[in-house]
Amino acid sequence: METQLKQPSTQAIEQAAELLRAGEIVAIPTETVYGIAASALNQQAVEKIFIAKARPQDNPLIVHIADRDMLPMVTSQFSSQAEKLAEAFWPGPLTMILPRGEQVCDGVCAGLDTVAVRMPSHPVAQQIIRASGLPLAAPSANLSGSPSPTTAAHVLADMQGRLPLIVNGGECQVGLESTVVSLTGERPVLLRPGAVTQQQLEEVLGVPVELAAAVLEQLQEGQKVLSPGMKYKHYAPKAQVTIVKGELGDFARYVAEHKGPDAVCLCFDGEQEQLSLPCVAYGAKEDAVQQAQQLFAALRRLDEIGAVQVFARCPSMEGVGLAVYNRLLRAAGFRVVQV
Ligand code: AMP
Ligand code: MG
Repeated sequence: METQLKQPSTQAIEQAAELLRAGEIVAIPTETVYGIAASALNQQAVEKIFIAKARPQDNPLIVHIADRDMLPMVTSQFSSQAEKLAEAFWPGPLTMILPRGEQVCDGVCAGLDTVAVRMPSHPVAQQIIRASGLPLAAPSANLSGSPSPTTAAHVLADMQGRLPLIVNGGECQVGLESTVVSLTGERPVLLRPGAVTQQQLEEVLGVPVELAAAVLEQLQEGQKVLSPGMKYKHYAPKAQVTIVKGELGDFARYVAEHKGPDAVCLCFDGEQEQLSLPCVAYGAKEDAVQQAQQLFAALRRLDEIGAVQVFARCPSMEGVGLAVYNRLLRAAGFRVVQV
């Protein structure tokens, strides 16, 4: 299959919409990361997403809508908590887990009786959803296991020959996948941290939001999974990554003692001079929003330069930093040392 990469002209958006209505898959930009979209109402179309990504069948997808009118197509109940969060954060990088609607096809929910729903703010995503008239199931547009794509070039690198069209919407502003919050239990649970923080959710809801254990810990064999995506190794470059927690001086000494061939540091801006190794930076130390924007591109860069061993500086775990840490922790396969 030939893969076309197009700028988001009116013609390209109409072509994307036509493909989606015909049951095809299309890569689209969103403000979080690029997604592979298909009609959430069409089982055969959704199956194509899993094939293109080589994604495990038990990992459900997020459904993207352009306005509230589409909600009845995807969920059977929009609670007052959901109303509050939608009012505060939609359109934007927040996904809510809600009771599943009847029209959503099985592949989207992976056998669960819940559905993940988000209203993206990226204008091109909104235009494509509106033009197609469909709620769109869209996981990240990477091969399963590799870092999510934040540019159209990243999508092309993973998906060439696997789908007919990529619509280029520029660099993703957020750079990490959406915050996922479950509203189907007794209490709201944060399943995946993102640009919308736990504290922001609590402020709007006025109740505590529990942090799912899998955000910061490796799931044990047989442990109940609230969000199936969290059990998979994720966002990983080919190199073995170790997070080294501590001050820069201690980090530098640790790295000098433990480095093997083709070792690289994943550091903050301006730290390169104090490190004795090649470095890839992922933003300013105090700026978690910038780290979120740059992390996945930095992980891909590590592969491009042939890194075999990577020592990563640890982000702060406050606010958006928690989301950055969560992704880096998975890229590191939970390998963390304290110096
Ligand atoms: P991705 O589309 O690659 O960003 O992954 C979607 C994430 O949302 C995965 O971590 C899924 O496990 C999670 N997710 C999607 N649907 C549900 C659901 N119904 N219940 C819990 N988690 C979900
Ligand atoms: Mg993904």
